[in-house]
Amino acid sequence: VFDILIKIDDNTWEVPIGYKAGMHVPGRIFVSGHLLGILEKETIDQVANVAMLPGIQKYSMAMPDAHLGYGFSIGGVAAFDKENGIISPGGVGFDINCGVRLIRTNLLENDVRPKLSQLLDDLFEAIPTGVGSKSRLRVSDAELDDIFINGVQWAVDKGYGVKEDLDHCESGGKIPGADPSKVSAKARKRGRPQLGTLGSGNHFLEVQYVDEIYDEELASVFGLHKGQVTFMIHCGSRGAGHQICTDHLQVLTQASRKYNIALPDKQLACAPAQSPEAQDYFKAMLCAANYAWVNRHVIMHWTREVFEKTFAEEFGDLGMHLVYDVAHNIAKLEEHTVDGKKTEVYVHRKGATRAFSPGHPDLPDDYRVTGQPVIIPGSMGTASYVLCGTKESMEISFGSACHGAGRVMSRKSAKSELHGEQVREELSLKGIQVRASQPSLIAEEAPEVYKSSSEVVDVVHDLGIAKKVAKLLPMGVIKG
Ligand code: 5GP
Ligand code: MN
Ligand code: MN
Repeated sequence: VFDILIKIDDNTWEVPIGYKAGMHVPGRIFVSGHLLGILEKETIDQVANVAMLPGIQKYSMAMPDAHLGYGFSIGGVAAFDKENGIISPGGVGFDINCGVRLIRTNLLENDVRPKLSQLLDDLFEAIPTGVGSKSRLRVSDAELDDIFINGVQWAVDKGYGVKEDLDHCESGGKIPGADPSKVSAKARKRGRPQLGTLGSGNHFLEVQYVDEIYDEELASVFGLHKGQVTFMIHCGSRGAGHQICTDHLQVLTQASRKYNIALPDKQLACAPAQSPEAQDYFKAMLCAANYAWVNRHVIMHWTREVFEKTFAEEFGDLGMHLVYDVAHNIAKLEEHTVDGKKTEVYVHRKGATRAFSPGHPDLPDDYRVTGQPVIIPGSMGTASYVLCGTKESMEISFGSACHGAGRVMSRKSAKSELHGEQVREELSLKGIQVRASQPSLIAEEAPEVYKSSSEVVDVVHDLGIAKKVAKLLPMGVIKG
C-alpha cells in the first residue's frame, strides 16, 4: 500500500482519491518516512474511509501520532461543511473531550525532589484513580445540569480554581449550546459519582520539570523557564461521555440508513450536520465536553491543594498558574478558509489538538500575540512538549496538530511482553516514580508502548503546524 501513497514533502504523504472508490477528497498523512514505516495499513484505510463521508473539506488527515481507532483513526482530523456535511461520533471518540492541561509552578526541580515520594503518595490519595473509581465530590442532578451547561464556570463559582483559569482553557472551558435534555438517565447516572476522578489506563497526573527551552520569547509568555516544576493532567469525561457516545451511536447508525449515507465502515455512523439526529448528538457531546473540563478543573484544584500543603510553608507563593487546557476528542463548529473563502465547518479532532494561530479571535488576550499553547504528552518515561500554534496550521490542518506520541504496542501485547514491576524499577532508576492502581497498568503504559514523542513532535514542528517551545521531563506519575 505504501507504493500508492504520493510523497508531497518529507513529512506529508497523500492518499490519492484512487486509493478506494468513493473518496471525495484525498487523504493527507503527516509523518516522517520512519513513522510511515510503522503505520498500520488499517490506519491508512481509515483515513481513506473518512474521505468518503459527505461534505468533507480539503483532506481527510492523520497526524504523526496516528494509529487505529474506532471508525476514524486516533490522530484523525476532518472538517465537514456546516450545511452539506455530516457529524459523526466516531470522529470524536468515546472519551469526549479527553484532554490535557499544564500547570506551572514557582518551584524548581531540586525543591521538589526531596519531597517527591510524599507528594506522590498524597496526590494518589487525593485524586481517585482506576476504572470505576468514585469521587469525593457529590453533585446533585440539578448541579449536573449546571455542569453540562456551564462547564468550568460552574467549578470556579463553587470555589474550584480561580477566574483567571477560565481564559486559559480552550473555549473558556465552556462551549455554548449544550443541552442536558439530550443526555440519557444512564449517562447521568454514570457521570454523577465520577466528577473529579482520573479514570484508568492512559489517563494520568504527572509531576515534571522543564528540561529545555526552544523558544525563549514564547516560553516567557507561557510562563515557562528551565528547571521549573510543572504538572500535567490528562483525563476526559469518564462514564458520562462514554455513555453519551454509546447512546447516540445507536441513533446515528439508524440515521445513516435513513439519510442514505453509504458507509465504508459501520463505525463511521453519522447524519447530515443539520439533521435533528446529528444536532442532538452534538448538543449531548457538548454536555460531555463541558463536564470533562470541570473534571480536569477539580483535579487541578485538589492537586494545587496538595502542593500547597507540601511546599507553601517553605516556599511561599507557589505561582501555580494554568498554562493552558486543550481538548483532544471533540467536534467543533469553526470558521476556516477553504479555497480562499471563509466557511463554517464541523472540525472533528479525534486524538488531535487544536493549534490556533497568532491573532486568532478565539484566543485569550495574552496568547493572542503568540498563538495557542499546544500541549503534547509523551509517556511516563519520555519527554512531553509544549508547542505553539501557527499560521501554517490554519492553512494546512484546520488549525490542528498531534495530541501525543501515539501507541505502537497494543495493551494486550504490552501485558504479555512487559512486567509492571520491572517497568516501575527501570523508571525508578531514571528518577521517575510511579503510583498506579495495578502493576499490570504500568506494563500497559510503559514508555515502549508509545512512539518516540520527540520524533512525532519534530514532524509537526518541521511541517510548521506547531512550533516547539519547551520540553518537559517526568519526575513522578500517577496512573489511573
Ligand atoms: P490518548 O489521549 O490517546 O489516550 O493519549 C494521549 C497521549 O498521551 C499518548 O499518545 C501518549 O503519548 C501520552 N501518554 C500516555 N501516558 C502518559 C504518561 O503517563 N505521561 C505522559 N507524559 N504522557 C503519556
Ligand atoms: Mn481519554
Ligand atoms: Mn486523551
